[in-house]
Amino acid sequence: MKHLCVALLLLVSSFALFGQEQPLTALPYTPSLDVPSMDKSVDPCTDFYQYSCGGWIAHNPIPADQAGWSVYGKLTNENNRFLWGILADAAKPATNRTALQQKIGDYFASCMDEAAIEKLGAKPLQPLLKQIDALKSKSGLAGFLAAEHQRSYGGGWVFGFGANQDFGDATQQIAYTGAGGLSLPDRDYYLKDDQRSKDIRDKYIAHVTRMFELIGESKEKAAADAKTVMKIETDLAKSSLTRVERRDPYNLYHKMSPAQLAALTPSFDWKQYFTASGLTNIKTINVAEPKFLAGLETEIKSVPLADWKTYLRWHAVHARASYLSSDFVTEDFNFYRKTLRGVTAMPPRWKQCVRYVDRDLGEALGHEFVNRTFTADTKAKTVDMTNRIEKAMENEIKTLDWMTDATKVRALEKLHSIANKVGYPERWRDYSSVVVKRDDFAGNAVRATAFETKRDLAKIGKPLDRGEWGMTPPTVNAYYNPQMNDINFPAGVLQPPLVDPKIDDAPNYGNTGSTIGHELTHGFDDEGRKFDANGNLKDWWTEADAKEFEERVNCVRDQYAQYTIVDDIKINSKLTSGEDVADIGGTLIAYIAWKDATANLKLEDAEGFSPDQRFFIGLAQWACENQRPENLRVNAVTNPHSPGRYRINGVVSNLPEFQKAFKCGDTAPMVNKKMCKIW
Ligand SMILES: [Zn+2]
Repeated sequence: MKHLCVALLLLVSSFALFGQEQPLTALPYTPSLDVPSMDKSVDPCTDFYQYSCGGWIAHNPIPADQAGWSVYGKLTNENNRFLWGILADAAKPATNRTALQQKIGDYFASCMDEAAIEKLGAKPLQPLLKQIDALKSKSGLAGFLAAEHQRSYGGGWVFGFGANQDFGDATQQIAYTGAGGLSLPDRDYYLKDDQRSKDIRDKYIAHVTRMFELIGESKEKAAADAKTVMKIETDLAKSSLTRVERRDPYNLYHKMSPAQLAALTPSFDWKQYFTASGLTNIKTINVAEPKFLAGLETEIKSVPLADWKTYLRWHAVHARASYLSSDFVTEDFNFYRKTLRGVTAMPPRWKQCVRYVDRDLGEALGHEFVNRTFTADTKAKTVDMTNRIEKAMENEIKTLDWMTDATKVRALEKLHSIANKVGYPERWRDYSSVVVKRDDFAGNAVRATAFETKRDLAKIGKPLDRGEWGMTPPTVNAYYNPQMNDINFPAGVLQPPLVDPKIDDAPNYGNTGSTIGHELTHGFDDEGRKFDANGNLKDWWTEADAKEFEERVNCVRDQYAQYTIVDDIKINSKLTSGEDVADIGGTLIAYIAWKDATANLKLEDAEGFSPDQRFFIGLAQWACENQRPENLRVNAVTNPHSPGRYRINGVVSNLPEFQKAFKCGDTAPMVNKKMCKIW
């Protein structure tokens, strides 16, 4: 349910000369308004994104190990190089390491020890393959999946399971089960009939075949097994909701008793599953997609045990490939990064290892990052900016001409209930029970994953911990969570060029101010508006107001549906409208907040731009990016964010404040005939 603010779902980062990259001991400085990144030969009223980012686009080719490259991606890479320095130090077996430094250091060392990993080959996978081989009947699937769900992230193994806030009572954590079991990026990849989708499926089958060969199967058996995998995953895909359907939380809320769950899938032994998960007292479970479980029931009944074992073998090698020797890592890279995303070179080992420590011991590493990079001053400034932006949102809501007073009261109540989390968690996660061994990378990764999933499962049946974060502190991203009703800005995103202490307020409000506004607005987008001030899925809108709101969102959907992502693929604006609405509304309230913050100051022109122009250039320059066409094609299906160009041009063309700042005529391309305005 999280709303990742920026399109960084797949891990980013590197640098044109990544072979020569070194650890950083200080984060480099780039101003939040960077004139050389502009292209002043372009008319801002014709293409504002190109005007603001043309120089950046020309000077920043995509590094070979990246699917795309962006201002956010570059900062992520810099943060990662800084983390690399921390980890390289912590990896030295000195006696003065703290217990946590020892854990992150030894984990990093185990991952960097490629010679040891190479020597082991597929050996770390053998116990898991043996467990699969030992399954005697389909009734054993439940116990096996319960164990393996704890050792792997995500819902790759048949279905997803974990703790989640109750949609109906946000103060409580309950069990949930969701659709899963796929290995391609979306259900559509299995079901679409166009030539490109067919080609990807052929390449996927070839990849699965090669992975089976790597664990010792003959060419013929591997090829037949890959087809079996494809058949099962395609069936699961057919039972899964689309991403657009999943945007409606009512489609994902079906509370059931264990007896009702058992009745839905009588062939799956849930009792065994719960017991093996350490859950002895499940009273209620949210079955996010009942249709999926009904499909799974058919699948369990009709697919022979031998085929299920084939499917499980594939998921075993798929889930663990990155912990194994280079033949597995390379094959995994070749399909998921090269074929699917167009990446041409594997990221250097240090980068992969930083990513694993961040994933598995993220708050331990993040604590070190925060201690070295995040100042009390940055925190205070961000909190002040957030307060001003909330005030601006409050004024906007109060003066809306389309919303009735009854709904306004509830909207303001919700706005005032939003918790602002800035920088890092108040209580750090306790990793003392995670066993880290210097010579056991695969074991470390699996044990850390098991620690994390057990921590998650332990929440079931308990009250919510409101202090928890869904991103690690060095992350260059931000999110709003409608059930927590909180906005979260990790320390990693509050660095130059996104927050720039050396420059005037205008670009800062344009850049990070708009991101803060964006996250706040998510509480009131087409999905977020369905949750109330307490985070409960509860309709607080009058019917007339809801209709007025939807009409305005449709204006945004119609506008963005015309933009081309790549080839002939247009934006699926039913998928992106929440983000598009947040971009438009967030920019406006950041602008109003900036005007208010500087009301008593005499603002001067700088670097040849008026203060208003500086606000908007600062806005555009967070979004400068280059993307590989392959990556854009994946994003078109999976990413709820529009491409950077439209996240800027789509916004400013709705804002009279922008048109005034750049003196755009009524017929200019950056002036919408029909202005969309919600907030
Ligand atoms: Zn967002």
